[in-house]
Amino acid sequence: MLHPVPLEFSGAPCGYRCRYCFTKDGTQSSGKLSSFKSCLTGESRSAASYFAALGSPVLLSNRSDPFCKQNELNTIEITKLLAGVGNGAAFQTKGGGKVLEAARIAGRSCWYVTVSYFDDSTRAKIEPHSPSVKYRLSLISDLVKMGNVVYAGVNPYVPEWIGDEDALIRALTDCGVYGVWSELLHFGRKTTLSDDDTAVMGEDVVRRAHKPADDFELGRIGAFMDKCRAAGLRTFIFGQAQPSDFWQPYYDIYKKGCLQNNQGFINHCFATLEDYKRVYFQDYFAFVTAGLTDKRLQIENYIRVHNRFLFFRKEKSPGKMTFKDVLRLSWKYPNVAFSLLRFSCFAQCVDDDSKPVLDDDGNPVLAFKRDGNFEE
Ligand code: SF4
Repeated sequence: MLHPVPLEFSGAPCGYRCRYCFTKDGTQSSGKLSSFKSCLTGESRSAASYFAALGSPVLLSNRSDPFCKQNELNTIEITKLLAGVGNGAAFQTKGGGKVLEAARIAGRSCWYVTVSYFDDSTRAKIEPHSPSVKYRLSLISDLVKMGNVVYAGVNPYVPEWIGDEDALIRALTDCGVYGVWSELLHFGRKTTLSDDDTAVMGEDVVRRAHKPADDFELGRIGAFMDKCRAAGLRTFIFGQAQPSDFWQPYYDIYKKGCLQNNQGFINHCFATLEDYKRVYFQDYFAFVTAGLTDKRLQIENYIRVHNRFLFFRKEKSPGKMTFKDVLRLSWKYPNVAFSLLRFSCFAQCVDDDSKPVLDDDGNPVLAFKRDGNFEE
């Protein structure tokens, strides 16, 4: 419900070993090239195979850099494979020796290049093994000149690290970046950092990243996003409750097999609903799953991995689920990461006794308001 690309191949544990990365301890499991190939060739009956047959592109990758030394050869092989079967590839990277070779094989694609710093000296402390800022900016220019749509991940956004953020925004616009995706640095409960990592990243930075963001931090990243928009860049941040065509290039370039997401539904609501109109589960479900199968697939991982509370305490893990089952859980439980209730433009409708209003199938009914101020 976040990214339009439903498939991902993450290769070997990432060789860039950035200090803040949850994969740097090497415990991240590697994607197996053989299983990936069997998905593409239809030999597997998995959910991934279902999407591969729809023509969905594959994201390389969210959990390991596809162009670090450990992955670059497989990335070239996979990119050739995807080009051969007509499924595109989308890339998330900090760069590497074989990027332009992959770009030539893939043809016009969406790229996400992370640049969280203006000063390379800060990059060298936080990400000592990754490519320089100067190289990444020139890579973005090259990719744009080749006809690709390039996003910059100013992600994580850490005020102490970014340096001259106005200069960084100027550099990104000069390179032809289409949009900027930023999130605050956040560590999970299980994140362990060495004393050295903590000292280099900054004790206050690390302390904040272990807690939910406060209004001051949200205000800082919000102000940064405002500056990016003022410079003509599209923006995305998790929980964004305003219309945005940030993801549109994915639908334009890949044409087949991209998923609708919450941003698409928010755009739809802003375009078609007046304030205080009711929003029904059936409308949401119909919008985001148009054209997808109603069969049960092995997709419970999608919701279980980040929402273990659901299946330990509240719901029985069903093994296989339909897309409707997954979406219904997110509709029912606001603490599911992609629940619409986490976007300020939606709120649960309540009756005069403050009880939730339910539809005929027992699903909560939501209300929509552009500015998120439901008190008026
Ligand atoms: S490049 Fe990305 S995946 Fe690799 S260590 Fe750095 S943050 Fe982690």
